[in-house]
Amino acid sequence: MKDRTPTYSLGSNIMFSLRTHWKAKKSTLIFCALDAVMSVLLPFVRILLPKLVIDELTAGTTPAHFATVVGGGAALLLVLSCVKGYTDVIATHSVGTMAAIESVSQMMGKRMDMDYEVLEDPASKAVEEKALRASESNHSPAHNIPRTLNRLISNILGFSLYGSVIAIIHPVILVLLILSAVISWLSLSSARKYERETRGERSALHKRLRYIQESTKSPERAKDVRIYSMSPWMKSLFSEIASELEARSGKVATRNMVAQLVDGGLILIRDGAAYAYLTYLLLRGSISLGDFVLVFSAIGAFAGWVSGIILQSSELMRASTEMGDIRAYLDIPDKSNRGQGVPLPSGDALPPAISVRNVSYRYPGADTEALKDITFDVRPGERIAIVGPNGAGKTTLVKLISGLYRPQTGSIKVAGVNIQEYNRDEYLTLIGAVFQDIHLLTTDIAGNVSQAPPEATDYQRVEECLRLAGLHERVQAMPDKEKTLLVRQINDNAVELSGGEKQKLALARALYKDAPLIILDEPTAALDPIAESEVYRKYAELTKGKTSIYISHRLASTRFCDRILFLDNHTIAETGTHDELMRLGGKYAQMFGLQAHYYRSDAEVELR
Ligand code: ADP
Repeated sequence: MKDRTPTYSLGSNIMFSLRTHWKAKKSTLIFCALDAVMSVLLPFVRILLPKLVIDELTAGTTPAHFATVVGGGAALLLVLSCVKGYTDVIATHSVGTMAAIESVSQMMGKRMDMDYEVLEDPASKAVEEKALRASESNHSPAHNIPRTLNRLISNILGFSLYGSVIAIIHPVILVLLILSAVISWLSLSSARKYERETRGERSALHKRLRYIQESTKSPERAKDVRIYSMSPWMKSLFSEIASELEARSGKVATRNMVAQLVDGGLILIRDGAAYAYLTYLLLRGSISLGDFVLVFSAIGAFAGWVSGIILQSSELMRASTEMGDIRAYLDIPDKSNRGQGVPLPSGDALPPAISVRNVSYRYPGADTEALKDITFDVRPGERIAIVGPNGAGKTTLVKLISGLYRPQTGSIKVAGVNIQEYNRDEYLTLIGAVFQDIHLLTTDIAGNVSQAPPEATDYQRVEECLRLAGLHERVQAMPDKEKTLLVRQINDNAVELSGGEKQKLALARALYKDAPLIILDEPTAALDPIAESEVYRKYAELTKGKTSIYISHRLASTRFCDRILFLDNHTIAETGTHDELMRLGGKYAQMFGLQAHYYRSDAEVELR
């Protein structure tokens, strides 16, 4: 699979993160900066205080002077501790929480906004998977870039301040301390590099684990799991992948551990040597006891600043890689026209004519074409039926007409304009559709029909559409009528609709939209024969003043349409009215004969 992930520089990722935080809440960043200063000042005052005490004692100052210096130092320490306590909470918790919320909202927005075709593309799914992994919790490095940056800055400040103190005693000690730090850095960054390079493999395993886990949540799959006793198989699949993941994560952990060991060993050597030298200077009388105490503490803490710089730098790099993953998802380009488009048809151009010319379509990564060289015209207001066996390409064709996919070759014109020239979102307003997979919102029935909040819902129109779709009586019998909540999984007092009722609701939703081009993909597949014949009977009323496309694999269900396109083997095999196609005596007639035999109820409907 082609890796379409763009790369982002460390600087641009830091700026992106800071901009996001600044936009969301400016004070968080200000407190973060203050925390960086506090992180250095507080420990420095702590190691300075013993030196001041010793200096005062050895200099033999007055008790009042002693009390002022020591009391002042202690008071400063108290104030700094309080401020640090506050800024620490902001820097440690608020930053990650806020960024996680922002990132979820950005990714949700992107998911709902991107081209449907791009959303379905396996290549985008891989990019999305990486972005999800990078943003899954408040603690994700990408969400904590300001905190990491803050820690890095405080470590650099600490390094400079303590380094200056040590350098005053002897610059060689400083050189020794820095040299060993560089070796630690190299060892740690090689471990991090390995971790980065192997992320793709681990991410793929995570994706499979998540898929299995998600499948057990779906009520549809829950039935299969029970009936086909799939539980042991799914569990063993899960543990197989989980152990593979564990083994790979183990390798990363081992490399990290070795790097930490090298770092720890070096700290031991460099501090040991520096302390020995300092003791030598004290015994020789080259430094005062106060300076000895100050530098002794500074050397001990210096290692912390150095490893802090190393740790926070690598953490920042890791965060930057993950931020890059998130941004790569947010930046996935759309293929359709999102800018200025040709104005939408109006007046005489509605309902629109459709003209499909030599259209072929192959799904991303597929070996064969789902549609081959399709050409046909639909007159304004014409009722077209697209029929044919499963997998012939019917749904793909209407998704192309809906602008959800773009054909690789050929063109589709609606109201005389190539649909790619319209602005994508404007074009979609022309279409009312019922697709096979129906998803309900966790709101009431009216909201599910209008797809809008209560204040923007026309309740009278909701009622009319429910009546036309054949669901009115059932809704009236419900406790809160149109205001009855749906989706039991979320609302305890919600009503659960049957498959057929959901289909009727989806039909009402398409009618409510009142778009000039209506597309119904197998809208009666889950209906009982009486409800189905009701839809056939009312079809003219349902599609009045609209151009309509009705898809079905049941040939008998389309005689109420003006014309039939019979799709077979990914192309249009025959076209004409039902009578014409029957007279032709081709594949349609042959399949109609077969189906009429099996779907007796259909045959009866046809005979009426
Ligand atoms: P129909 O609606 O006639 O049953 P479809 O349009 O759904 O047929 O499918 C046409 C062909 O495209 C089938 O061979 C199907 O396997 C393939 N196909 C459908 N959806 C996808 C997809 N998202 N990715 C890859 N292939 C697909």
